[in-house]
Amino acid sequence: MTIDLSQLLSRSAESVQITATINTALCVGAGGSTGSLADKPIVRTADKKLLIPASQIKGRLRHECEKLARGLGWPVCESPKADTMCPQLAGFTESQKNDFYREDYRLPEYPDERQYHCLICQIFGNPTLPSRVLFSDLICNQDPDTLAEVLRPGVTINRSRQTAEDQKLYFLETSPANLQLKFTGEIYFQPGCPESAKPLILAGLHHINALGGSKSAGLGWLCWKTPDLLRDNYAVWSALLPGGA
Ligand SMILES: [Zn+2]
Repeated sequence: MTIDLSQLLSRSAESVQITATINTALCVGAGGSTGSLADKPIVRTADKKLLIPASQIKGRLRHECEKLARGLGWPVCESPKADTMCPQLAGFTESQKNDFYREDYRLPEYPDERQYHCLICQIFGNPTLPSRVLFSDLICNQDPDTLAEVLRPGVTINRSRQTAEDQKLYFLETSPANLQLKFTGEIYFQPGCPESAKPLILAGLHHINALGGSKSAGLGWLCWKTPDLLRDNYAVWSALLPGGA
């Protein structure tokens, strides 16, 4: 079943289209590789198109955005463990915690004890705060029949039930390199998303140069095409500075 993300979103959500071009091989590891679907950077849609799952992009992007935000001077919690993330901040000293108690981290609609959430949590969410950005899967619109002969698909097995997961195929062997396949999807910015979310995410995206477990066994190298709307827009980029300075 395909879920149309746009139907889940409020009408005022803003979307940005992104495209990844795969520069090298398309693969996921040798035959007989184990691991869950989450380890597979490429699967197929029900109509057999190649697909990079949204979860692959979102996890990596959060990590890149955390690094960028820290570099810019924002206090950022430690993901992915819930107790070291906002609002708990286990392991942070009192003075480090005080850095988080700032006006631009305060969400007044939340109860006192969990009112403060760092910039990254306000964008990507945490166990007590919903994410304000949603990602669609990235889909390759090239006719799957033209790729079928060079790729060898496998089926994801559900280990507890010993049955194939429906409609989820992945590849057992490396495809020929240099196909320059393009994968396109959307990022949806929900209302309430911090102003700095868009420049931070688009900058972070360009720090993802490869997907997959390791660069030799994974999906390989890729580059991104994102909208030019932010270029030379000082007002947008200045939102990335703490305090909007
Ligand atoms: Zn946080």
